[in-house]
Amino acid sequence: MYSLTDRKTIEYLCKKYDFKFKKGLGQNFLTDESVLVNVAEAADTENGGVLEIGPGFGVLTAVLAQRAKKVLAVEIDEKVMPVLSETLAGFDNIEIVNKDILKCDVKELIEEHFGDEKISVAANLPYYITTPIIMKLLEDQLPLKNIVVMVQKEVAERMCAAPGGKDYGAVTVAVNYYCEPSLICNVGRHLFVPAPNVDSAVLKLKLREKPPVEVISEKTFFSVVKASFSQRRKTLFNALKNSGNFGTAQNIENVLAAAGIDKMIRGERLSIEEFAKIANGFCRE
Ligand code: SAM
Repeated sequence: MYSLTDRKTIEYLCKKYDFKFKKGLGQNFLTDESVLVNVAEAADTENGGVLEIGPGFGVLTAVLAQRAKKVLAVEIDEKVMPVLSETLAGFDNIEIVNKDILKCDVKELIEEHFGDEKISVAANLPYYITTPIIMKLLEDQLPLKNIVVMVQKEVAERMCAAPGGKDYGAVTVAVNYYCEPSLICNVGRHLFVPAPNVDSAVLKLKLREKPPVEVISEKTFFSVVKASFSQRRKTLFNALKNSGNFGTAQNIENVLAAAGIDKMIRGERLSIEEFAKIANGFCRE
């Protein structure tokens, strides 16, 4: 069995399969065993099902498969398929699908492989599509327990940020609507082959049973959030007015006043509860 965290093994496999790292696919392979164990433990995979995105040479896949009942791994790069056949040959609970995760019907994929069981997602995500992948997993309302992902440190900080700071944004609010985010550990860039230009962090998103706020329309709620952060230097009132989505200036003033929110505040200072109050106000108008 290979030690896939060993740089020499990675080099050997690259040579054997004439594999070249593709920067465009975010191929930075992890070489630290303890980080892998952190990911697997945080994902709470013991005897359950796991969806892995981007197995690469299978370093995380193997650690997940030692704990989980079944691992389904989705990988876009066909060049790693023969490598995975060799590195994961000793496992009978791993299935690899050669697809682009962003183009998959993930709900169908989960149903097909795990029935109606709630599963976890675990991944060292390709940096170029971190946020789109996370948002897709959340918005598709999949039967998930946890999403544990390695992402750029800045992205992890943004998703765990409190209102008012520079890291707090529309993505923070969206993530908090669906999950309870927490930071598991930081991971230095030197622990990857090849080393990326940024440091990373392992982020855990524990899916909520229900959102922390009651909204009349999710569409209106997310459109208020989006508009409020789209012009960060503008006041909340101007940002909502300029979006053109919330009726007349008077209408917006009425809703903010009824919600007890100062129209001169900046959107980035609002809590998720305040966004919900405003959105529900527009729905009632
Ligand atoms: N899991 C391995 C590890 O931890 O070392 C590799 C992680 S590497 C950061 C990201 C992996 O995602 C690569 O194997 C890459 O080919 C794959 N990938 C990139 N874009 C993808 C996509 N759209 N769908 C599925 N896999 C993708």
